[in-house]
Amino acid sequence: MIWISLRRAKVSFSVLEIADRLNIKLVNRTGNEFVFICPFCSGQKEYPKLYINQDKGVFVCHHCHLRGSITDLWALRCGVDTKTAYKQMVNSVSADIQPIESEPVPIKDTEKLNLIYNEFLKMLTLEPRHKEDLLRRGIIDTSGFKSLPEDAKTRWNICSILNRKYGLDDVPGFREQISRKGKPYWDCYRSGMLIPVKDVYQRLAGFQIRTEREPKYIWFSYRSQSKSCVNVIPGKGIPWIIEGVLKSYVTNHFLQIPCFGIPGTDTWRLVPFELIRGGKVIVAYDMEDNPYSLKARDSLISHLDSIGIEPVVAGWNKTMGKGIDDACLYVFKQGIKPRPEMFLPGIAA
Ligand SMILES: [Zn+2]
Repeated sequence: MIWISLRRAKVSFSVLEIADRLNIKLVNRTGNEFVFICPFCSGQKEYPKLYINQDKGVFVCHHCHLRGSITDLWALRCGVDTKTAYKQMVNSVSADIQPIESEPVPIKDTEKLNLIYNEFLKMLTLEPRHKEDLLRRGIIDTSGFKSLPEDAKTRWNICSILNRKYGLDDVPGFREQISRKGKPYWDCYRSGMLIPVKDVYQRLAGFQIRTEREPKYIWFSYRSQSKSCVNVIPGKGIPWIIEGVLKSYVTNHFLQIPCFGIPGTDTWRLVPFELIRGGKVIVAYDMEDNPYSLKARDSLISHLDSIGIEPVVAGWNKTMGKGIDDACLYVFKQGIKPRPEMFLPGIAA
């Protein structure tokens, strides 16, 4: 039996055993190299182009250009991350093979974006440092947040799968690049945490990226591609307009209020005002003396007045922090449950 060793791992796997468990058909063997029918690009027509090198523990398909380690192969075949893949391989867990359609599925616009972005998220993991960041902000349910893979091969493989299945031509955040050898491949942004932006039906419309440098927030979208807009968290009660998408998640968690998270002070124009019920809205911009920010807030307020919606401006002591999310967290850390009325005009004991 032929064994391959995984880098930095003490466990060896048999190429044939792994291929068998993944239901990949062997067609040939030349020295150290095994040739299989590629399960990723073969449909009606089979492509015997998947090579696995037993010494290096790597695979490559010379038809669809997927490549990676044996663990990557397992991960891609089963639709799990590599950590899970490794565990399943070691523990002889039977492979739960994900069907991959070779023909692009035609879907339109918002539905298509939602489908692709959801599938994209499923293939990503959340880096511990990003998870810690979310927990520090007060977000307990971190399941909707993911990290962009810094490993280029992982990114290319994921993009390649999505492109083959749906076609990424009109999908913001992805673009086709040309390798040094002149071969086209798909890629996306290479680092940061994805903050989902959803519409009122809770369909994924796009992402903001929390970067680890300035600017802190960018769109998951290249120049000339459309930008996702306002994050909508629907529900009963007076709606809030909150400056910041991530802040809308934090504030919703603490105050249980329906809200719109706008990506910047000036982007209030993107709010779907027609969704607002009850004729009243609470505006929670950062407590800043910045004249541009104040001007933007004032123009939002006069717009609300002009369309017959009563604006109420939320406020708090600046020592509690700049944003409504900081203020909620501040109250929470005092051992008090934050409530919406704490940030609204009034007198209370
Ligand atoms: Zn292939």
